[in-house]
Amino acid sequence: MHQSMCRIQRGPFVYYTCRRLPVRHAFTTKFGGVSTGHCESLNLGFNRGDTEENVRENYRRLAEALGVPDARWTLTKQIHETGVSVVEEEQAGMGLHQPMAWQSDAIVTALPDTPLIGFYADCVVTLLYDPATHTAGVCHSGWRGMAAGILPKTVAVMEQKLGTKRDSLIAVLGPSIRQECFETDADVPEAMERQLGALVQPYIMEKGPKFHVDLQGIGVKLLQDAGLAPENVIDSGICTMCHADEFWSHRATHGLRGVQGGVICL
Ligand SMILES: [Zn+2]
Repeated sequence: MHQSMCRIQRGPFVYYTCRRLPVRHAFTTKFGGVSTGHCESLNLGFNRGDTEENVRENYRRLAEALGVPDARWTLTKQIHETGVSVVEEEQAGMGLHQPMAWQSDAIVTALPDTPLIGFYADCVVTLLYDPATHTAGVCHSGWRGMAAGILPKTVAVMEQKLGTKRDSLIAVLGPSIRQECFETDADVPEAMERQLGALVQPYIMEKGPKFHVDLQGIGVKLLQDAGLAPENVIDSGICTMCHADEFWSHRATHGLRGVQGGVICL
């Protein structure tokens, strides 16, 4: 775990934070909610076989624990592509208190008191915050989104639409499946190399007939190449599959699971 990361236990909640982010934020774990069965207990996804009532109650409790307004939860819609949406006042509450009207794996905002949330159960959720302009974002990327460049695209949208400064922007890559555990066939590294070129080569390890891609390493490299200062790009260093006791890992559960959230709120 990166030295700036903290494991917080508050009542039934367990979540992770980063000392570098001076705004309300969290990477949630399984713990703190009311869901049961394979979604026990803090499932934040409506498409995991949980009841809508339980999921809504989980959001309500999480909002209370983090001190953010439940009425303004704003959700990504994760389709493994590169859509980035700006959350304006009319979009506050999207996905929970008003119907989802975007297909955006990343959402960004300058609005205060508007908790943004992206989802993970092995994928990388990155929280972004710029103290110079007080702007924030959340970006979901599995290997497809990472290969398609959603992280640098999120930075570009923040700069163009919100005035975010690249040289003060802080990014924290959350708990996610790491290289040791992320075993794939050749299709994954080949697809990533087709889209990102030779820069991915140092992040691909060959083990017999299988491959292990360092998604977080690639994410850090892409963010640094996008103009973020090396000291402002933080890889949390936590593997969801190694810590399947605390996190739902898509691989460890074979898909029968709830889902965690990465949250940031100005
Ligand atoms: Zn692992």
